[in-house]
Amino acid sequence: MPEPVDLIVRGSHLVTMNAARDVIRDGAVAVRDRVIVAAGKAADVERDFTAFRTIGGDRFVVTPGMVNTHIHITGEPMTRGYVPDDTPFEENVFQWLCPLYATYDALDERTSGQLAAAEMLRSGTTTFLEAGTIRFLDDVVDGLHEIGIRARVGNWVWDLPPEPDVYRSTTDRAIGLLQQQLEALPSTPDTLVSAWSTLVGHTTCSDPLWRAAKALADEHGVGMSFHMSPAKIDVDGFTAEFGQRPMVHLDEIGVLDRNVAITHAVHVDDVEIGLLAARGVSVAHCPTTALKVSYGVTQIGKFPEMVQRGINVSIGTDGNNASNYSDLMRATYLVAGLFKDARMDPQMFPAETAYEMATLGGARTMLLDDQIGSLEAGKRADIVLHDADRPEWRPLLNVANQLVWSADGRGVHTVLVDGRIVVEDGHCTTIDEAKLWADAQQRGEAVTARSGLPDKAKWPTW
Ligand SMILES: [Zn+2]
Repeated sequence: MPEPVDLIVRGSHLVTMNAARDVIRDGAVAVRDRVIVAAGKAADVERDFTAFRTIGGDRFVVTPGMVNTHIHITGEPMTRGYVPDDTPFEENVFQWLCPLYATYDALDERTSGQLAAAEMLRSGTTTFLEAGTIRFLDDVVDGLHEIGIRARVGNWVWDLPPEPDVYRSTTDRAIGLLQQQLEALPSTPDTLVSAWSTLVGHTTCSDPLWRAAKALADEHGVGMSFHMSPAKIDVDGFTAEFGQRPMVHLDEIGVLDRNVAITHAVHVDDVEIGLLAARGVSVAHCPTTALKVSYGVTQIGKFPEMVQRGINVSIGTDGNNASNYSDLMRATYLVAGLFKDARMDPQMFPAETAYEMATLGGARTMLLDDQIGSLEAGKRADIVLHDADRPEWRPLLNVANQLVWSADGRGVHTVLVDGRIVVEDGHCTTIDEAKLWADAQQRGEAVTARSGLPDKAKWPTW
């Protein structure tokens, strides 16, 4: 007798991302109670299981949900593109981004979080690691639960100058905020949204704050994340203060570890890469930001060396003024291409490696590798159906190449997170999308007006 399940998902190609990287033609996934109970040939799955509902079919490529390991869901989604694209890094952060973040109120942040989540879900990302720059955490988490995405989040924590007034904090208060978020939003296998020990990073943290954040991550069994070394300014800051490069100093004070995810890591030397490899640190590579903010990733970035040394590198899309979109498929395309050109070597980041980084690499970064990142029995049902009846998908002859080089998030048709259908026929099922677009427009215009920052659009608009 076939066993009953909630749902069967069928596709012409099932991209499992299992240990053998099996791609199963005419495949199916059976889902019960939020968990995948079988993934295999459709004929076998349908012989063994009977479902209340079957979705998908011959025109769909079925993949695991992607994992975006660095994104700012507040501050930027509703001011997307307002910051001119010709501003240097420091002007970008201190003259534009910090004042814009400071202008958001709680409802602005909730709307912004939902806008970011809608963009991610509709382009096949089912899990994300937030950058630790939320000011109204409860409101944002409420919005994320409503839309139904998996996430790890945190408050804006920063205890050293130069600190914009609205974020000014003592070390004790900063540590208190981290402790509070970890207690309020504990991680359990059934929790979609929970807290990590998140710091802004760079040169914004005292040593006591670095140490406390790591200790809190360990105590709560969660990860710790922060920005470091996108530009030379962090290297210069640490060298001036400690006579050590950032990773060397962080290692000396006990921060580098397997539960740590560092974003950017563009300006790193070989000693620092050795430390990251030895300690098992994960790195979030944000190629779209590196390009737009001129980090020099193709000239001095060492991502090929990191991967060769066994460092787990995953992919992030960062803020919407440093990349302007949150479609991880577009970022994965860049990961596959940047170093092919930079090193004049087509062996750099094959499509299969880039797609692993967007799925399994992300899962490992977020300490969720036993739960997500592949379509296998026992994992959570985070599943994406790509509609192959689109010009960029036909003819479909090599699914890994098509996923990375041809397709982007616009072809995503249906998305499940934790067994729940949250996108169907390209639209979010859990929220009123038309209202979200209207709210984002109205609040985005209000935030930019309240910020007092000038409109620098160069074309006369009237
Ligand atoms: Zn960032």
